Amino acid sequence: MKVFKQKEREFALQRIPVLKERFPEAEEILSFAECLLRFQNCVLEDLLEKYPKVDLSSAEARIEKGKPALRLKHLDLRPYLGYLREALVKASECGTESIREGARFLLSQPEEELISLTGYFLENQMADDVSRMIFMAWLQPVLYSISDRISFTRDQWLRNFCPVCGFKPSVSFLMDSEEGEGVRFLRCSLCLTDWVYVRTMCVNCGNVEDDKMDYFMERGADYIQLQVCRKCKHYIKVVDLRKEGLAVPDLEDIASVALDLWAQERDYTKIERNIFGY
Ligand SMILES: [Zn+2]
Ligand SMILES: [Zn+2]
Repeated sequence: MKVFKQKEREFALQRIPVLKERFPEAEEILSFAECLLRFQNCVLEDLLEKYPKVDLSSAEARIEKGKPALRLKHLDLRPYLGYLREALVKASECGTESIREGARFLLSQPEEELISLTGYFLENQMADDVSRMIFMAWLQPVLYSISDRISFTRDQWLRNFCPVCGFKPSVSFLMDSEEGEGVRFLRCSLCLTDWVYVRTMCVNCGNVEDDKMDYFMERGADYIQLQVCRKCKHYIKVVDLRKEGLAVPDLEDIASVALDLWAQERDYTKIERNIFGY
């Protein structure tokens, strides 16, 4: 893994105190996010040295065919199981009561059972909320380090699922980049890969009709917008990095939980829930 990707996540850690001040209602969840991020950064540092072998020989051909580079169900997770134990210990220390309980249950399970539960989650993108959160906390840095070894140009994909792992994005952002000015990127909920997507298109159903799309923002944080599609009743947040250059999209999403409550009260469904399940 390249050092700059690791630096990016170290930088993300410094964003948390700023977000706690700006979104006091999310302070508790941000403290937990901080605890998980510290753990994930240790995993990334470790992976930087170990660089486990992963067969990526078919990755580029798969992307060319419109399929995600990794076949998650064939991924050998055994070399990474030690990190799962660490994630479980962390969650049993700093999570809420129900998270602690779920973490303790998983800690008591044999290795084979953990592999099988994770396999089911990766294949079906389904697990109970606590397991989902812990599996994501564990797999995010693992897949983040693997995604770095897969080359694709960020504007060749234009689909609503991740080119690396196939999961859906939980947040999007706007940025001036080599792909253009004010380009919209989607960020994968699982491996944090970013890719380009049409700015005005619904990420769920592909709707581009202007009069069926609404945009809402929170007072005091107008760089975070909700893009709501009235055609399919789904939404995703759009974080404008041109207005807030130090924003970290996946963390801004966690902090702006009030926007999710607002949307969900109106029966809108998020394209994909973040690591904390909203
Ligand atoms: Zn992904
Ligand atoms: Zn839609």
